[in-house]
Amino acid sequence: MNAPVRPAMPQFASIEKAIEALDPVQPVYAVLPEKIRVAARRFLDSFPGDTLYAVKSNASPFMLKEIWDAGIRHFDTASLGEIEIVKSLLPDARCHFMAPVRLPGAAKIAYGKYGVTDYVVDCDFELEKLLAETGNPRDLRVFVRIATSLGGAVLEMASKFGASPEEAAKLLKRVQAAGAAPCLTFHVGSQCLSPFSYAQAIEMAQRTARFAGVELKALDIGGGFPGPLLGNDVPPFHWYFDTITEALRTLDNPQIPVMCEPGRALSTEGMSLITRVVLRKGQRLYINDGRYGSFDELCQPGFLADYPVRAITLGKKGATPLPQKNLDSFRLFGPSCDTIDVLPRPFLLPDTIAAGDFIVFDAIGAYSVSSRSSFNGFYPDDWVRITG
Ligand SMILES: *Cc1c(COP(=O)(O)O)cnc(C)c1O
Repeated sequence: MNAPVRPAMPQFASIEKAIEALDPVQPVYAVLPEKIRVAARRFLDSFPGDTLYAVKSNASPFMLKEIWDAGIRHFDTASLGEIEIVKSLLPDARCHFMAPVRLPGAAKIAYGKYGVTDYVVDCDFELEKLLAETGNPRDLRVFVRIATSLGGAVLEMASKFGASPEEAAKLLKRVQAAGAAPCLTFHVGSQCLSPFSYAQAIEMAQRTARFAGVELKALDIGGGFPGPLLGNDVPPFHWYFDTITEALRTLDNPQIPVMCEPGRALSTEGMSLITRVVLRKGQRLYINDGRYGSFDELCQPGFLADYPVRAITLGKKGATPLPQKNLDSFRLFGPSCDTIDVLPRPFLLPDTIAAGDFIVFDAIGAYSVSSRSSFNGFYPDDWVRITG
C-alpha cells in the first residue's frame, strides 16, 4: 500500500518558528502530527475493536492524512461528501455511513461506487429506503441507533436521533428478516465526561437485543470521548477503556465485534490556532478570527469549556511567550462587523498584550475548522505542520 501523498504545507519545528517565518496577518491552523499519533495510539492500543475516525469533527485533508498516518484505517462518514473527501485522499480507507438520515440516493452511490456496507437507521422509513437503494445485498450490516439516556456529556446527542429500546427491537427483527446483519449503535453525547455513560448504554443495547430475541452481529459504541479542554474535568482515558471492556464482558456474546467512532478525542489536541491581535482597546482585544470562523463550537449555548491559550510576541529576539505574570481578563472580539461576534467568556492573558501580538489557542482541532464560514469575507484557511 502506497503512503498517500501529503498536500503541500509549510513545515516548522515549532509554533514560534512558524510565527517568526510568517508574521501572519490571517489566522493559521497548526497541525501537530505527534499529538495525533498519541491520541490514535490510545484507541489502537486499548480499544477492543475497530476505531473509526468521525470525520465531521475535522474534515481537513491535512487532518485526515495525519489520522491515516497515525494508523487509523476506518472512517465514520455521515454524507456522500465526506465519503468522497476520504476516498479521494485515502483510497484504501474503509468508510462507514453512520448517519441515521441519508439524502435520497446517497446509499445507492455509497454502496455501488464506494463499497460501503455499514449503515445506521433509527426508523422504518430509512431502513426501507436503504434496502431499496442498495438492492438488499447479503453483506449489509445495519446498525439500529438507540437513544441513550441523558448522561455525563457536555453536548447531548439523543434528542435528534435514536429509537427507544422497544422501537429498536422491532427494527432489529426487520433487519434480520431482510437478511442483513442486525447490529446496534448509540452515541452517549459529545465531550462525555463520565465513562459510566458507556456502560449504561451497553447495558441498554443488551436489553434491546434480548427483547428482540435477535443475536447481534456487531455493536458500535459511537463517539463522545472527550478532549482536554479548560473547565472540563476530563477523566483519564483508561477509565473509559476499562469501563467499556468490563461492560462488554457482560454481553450475551462477549466476543461480538465492536467499533467506536471518536471524533474530538482524535482531533482536539492535533491542531492549534495562531491568531493575531489586531487592536487593543482597554480590556478588549479585536483578533482576526471569531465565532463565524474557528470558534463556532465555543459559542454554542451550553458548551461550557474553553481552549487553553498562550500569548506570543514577535520582537528582536524572535517569537517569545509573553511572561505569564500579571494576568488580566480580556474579552476577545472577532473580525466581522457583527455585534455578537465576541467569544462568550473572557480569557486570562498577560496585561502587556498589544496589537501585533499573537494568541495561540491549543486543543482546538475539533469542531472548529470544520464549521467555519466565509461570513463578511473572512475565511481562515492557512495551514502549517509542526514537526517538533
Ligand atoms: C458526531 C458524531 C461522532 C463523533 O462524536 P465525538 O463526540 O466528536 O466523538 C460519532 N458518531 C456519530 C454518529 C456522530 O454524529
